[in-house]
Amino acid sequence: MEVIKAIEAKGLVKKYKGLTAVDALDLTVQKGELFALLGVNGAGKTTTIKMLSCLTAPTEGDAFINGFSIVSDAAKVKQRIGVSPQETAVAPNLTVKENLALMCGIHGFSKEKRGQKTEELSRQFGLMDIMGKRAGKLSGGWQRRLSIAMALISEPELLFLDEPTLGLDVLARSDLWDVIRSLKGRITIILTTHYMEEAEALSDRIGIMKDGRLLVLGTADELKKKAGTDRFEEAFVAIIRNSNTEELV
Ligand code: ATP
Repeated sequence: MEVIKAIEAKGLVKKYKGLTAVDALDLTVQKGELFALLGVNGAGKTTTIKMLSCLTAPTEGDAFINGFSIVSDAAKVKQRIGVSPQETAVAPNLTVKENLALMCGIHGFSKEKRGQKTEELSRQFGLMDIMGKRAGKLSGGWQRRLSIAMALISEPELLFLDEPTLGLDVLARSDLWDVIRSLKGRITIILTTHYMEEAEALSDRIGIMKDGRLLVLGTADELKKKAGTDRFEEAFVAIIRNSNTEELV
C-alpha cells in the first residue's frame, strides 16, 4: 500500500544567531496520522511547527506539505494548513460568532458559505450556546476550542495544534481530547504537548526532540519497549536522560 506523505521534512535547520533551534530534522508524517512532537522546554517543537506552517523560514533544508515546498511554494502550503498556536488566536473583544465570521472573511467566503461554515463548526464544537459571548470572557478551555474551530474554517488538510491543552483543568482537557479524537483520521494533525498522557492517548506516533534534534520516533508502545518500561512518562524521561549518546532515531 502506498503511503501518502502529508509532511516530508528533509534536513530542516533553524538557527537564531548562535543558537541552532532545529538541527537537521528529517521527518515523514503520513496523511491522516495524528503525530505528537514531545520534548523538554526549548527542544525546538514550536520552531518546527512555525517552519512547517510557513510562519518562519528555515535556515537550511526544506519540507513538503502534501507535496508543496515550504520554501518555494509557501502560498500553496498556507492554503492547505490550519494552525491553532500556543498564544491564543481568538480576538477577545469579538463574540464567538464574530471570531468565526472573521476567519470566514479572511478566507473570502461568500455570505452563504460563511453562514454554513459557522453553523457547521459551532455544532461540531458545541459552541451554539455561547455564540453571542465575547471570546475574551470565555474560560481557557473554551477559548482553545474556539481557536481550533477557527483553524478548521478553511477546511485544511493538515492541522497544527501547539500545546492545545496547556494550563487547562482535567475536565477541560478531557473535553478537548474528545474534540481532537473526533478529528482523528479525517485530517492530518501535528500536536505538541508537555502532557505525556495526552500524547499517549491521542497519537498514532510520537517523536521526541531534544536540543533541536529528533531523538526517537515510534508509537507509544514502541517507545516504552525501547526504554524498557510500561509507563510512557518513564520512557520519555529515560529517553531524554540517555540521549547524550549519538544514538539518534
Ligand atoms: P517550549 O516547550 O518551551 O515551548 P519548544 O520545544 O517549543 O519549547 P522552541 O520554542 O522551538 O522550543 O525554542 C527552541 C530554542 O530556540 C530555544 O532555545 C528558544 O529560546 C530559541 N528560540 C525560539 N524562538 C526564538 C527567536 N525568535 N529568537 C531567538 N531564539 C529563539
